[in-house]
Amino acid sequence: MSIFDKYAAFLERYQMAEMMPKNPLGMRFDEILTPTRARVDGREIILAGTNNYLGLTFDEDAKAAAAEAIAHHGTGTTGSRMANGSYAEHQDLEAEIADWLGMKSCIVFTTGYQTNLAAIGTLAGRDDLILIDADSHASIYDACRMSDAKMVRFKHNRPDDLDQKLERLLPETKGSALVVVEGLYSMFGDIAPLGEFAAVCEKHGAYFFVDEAHSVGVYGEEGRGVADMQGVLDKVDFFSGTFSKSLASVGGFCTSRHAEFDRIRSIMRPYTFTASASPATIASTRVTLAKLREGEGLRQNLWARAEQLHAGLSEMGFTLCAEPSPIVAVRRSSDLETVMGWQQLMQAGVYVNLAVPPATPKGACLLRLSLSAAHTEDDIDAILGAFAQLAEQGAVAVAAE
Ligand code: PMP
Repeated sequence: MSIFDKYAAFLERYQMAEMMPKNPLGMRFDEILTPTRARVDGREIILAGTNNYLGLTFDEDAKAAAAEAIAHHGTGTTGSRMANGSYAEHQDLEAEIADWLGMKSCIVFTTGYQTNLAAIGTLAGRDDLILIDADSHASIYDACRMSDAKMVRFKHNRPDDLDQKLERLLPETKGSALVVVEGLYSMFGDIAPLGEFAAVCEKHGAYFFVDEAHSVGVYGEEGRGVADMQGVLDKVDFFSGTFSKSLASVGGFCTSRHAEFDRIRSIMRPYTFTASASPATIASTRVTLAKLREGEGLRQNLWARAEQLHAGLSEMGFTLCAEPSPIVAVRRSSDLETVMGWQQLMQAGVYVNLAVPPATPKGACLLRLSLSAAHTEDDIDAILGAFAQLAEQGAVAVAAE
C-alpha cells in the first residue's frame, strides 16, 4: 500500500500529460523576454495567459526600486512581522493602499492566497456565518475551512439567492454574517453586481467582503476596481487584492473601513506564522501602485485589445463565457478537446491557460486567455490567427452548460 495510491487517477492523468508534445501540467518557460513574449524550446511565443494586466513586470522604475531595496535591506526579511518586526516600507505601502481606496486600515500579506486565508479565516469566528459565491476562488474556500464559522454557498452572481439564504439563516445565527464575493471572476471573466449585493448586505446588517484580485488596475477610477466603477466602494467593509497581477510582483493586501481591522493582525495565523514580503517585492509594488493609479493610458490599451480579441473570436463562432473583459474564456466541449486545442495553440506559438475541472466552476472546459496593456494590435491578430487554425479543424460553438 503506497501513500500515493489515493491519487492513482490523478497520476494516470499526469502520465498522459507527460506523453504529449508539450506537458500542460508542467509548463516551463526558458526565459521571459517581455510582458508578452517568452522563449520555450528555443522558440519565441506570445504570452496570452498571464495575469500581467498592465504589463508592468519589466517596468524600469520598478526594477530599479527593487534593486535598490536589495542593496539597502538585503534579499529577504528572514521572519514574520510579528516576531521580527516590520520594515518601514511594509507600513508605508499599507498607508498608500488605504489612501488609494479611501479606507481606514490596511494589512499587507506575503501572498494574495494568504490574504484571504488570514482575513476571512480570522474575521469569521465560531458563532458567525460566512456566505460565499459558489464560484469563489480556492483561497476563499480554504479560508472557510480554516474558520470555525458555518459556511454556506449561494448561487453565482445571484443577490436574490443570497437574500433568501440570509433571511433563512440569520435568525439561527448568534454572531455576525460575512458575505464574500469577487469583483471580476478569474475563470469566466464575468463581473459581479456589487451594488445589488451591497444592498442585500445592508438590508440584513451583514458585513460585505469583496476580493478584487483581478479587477484592481483594470476597472474604476485610478484602477480601484469593480466596486468603485459601480459606485459602491463606500459600502465595502473589507476589500482584498493581490500584488501578483496588475501590480506585477507577489503579495496581497486587505483593507477595511473599520479601524479595528488593523489591530487584529496578530491573531491572523497566515500573518503571524510566515515570513513577510521581501524588501524588493515591497519596493517594486510601491512603484507599480503609483503607476497603476495614473495608468489611464494603460487601461485604454488593455480594453481596446480585450474588445478586439472578444470580437474576433465571436466572429469565428467560438463560445465565449462573458462580455468583453481582459479575461476571455473560450468554452470547449470536453477535457480532451481542450487539451488538444491547447497543444495546437502552443504549436502556433501562443500560450494560453488550460482550465479544466476540478479547477473550473460547473465542470467547464476552457481555453482561458488573459490580456495585457503591453499586447499590440498585431499580437491580438496573431492570437486570432492561431484560433482560426483551430476553427478550421472542427466545430467551434459549444452549448453553454
Ligand atoms: N483571489 C483570487 C480571486 C485569485 O484569482 C487569486 C489568484 N489567482 C488569489 C486570490 C490569490 O492571489 P495570489 O496568486 O497572488 O496568491
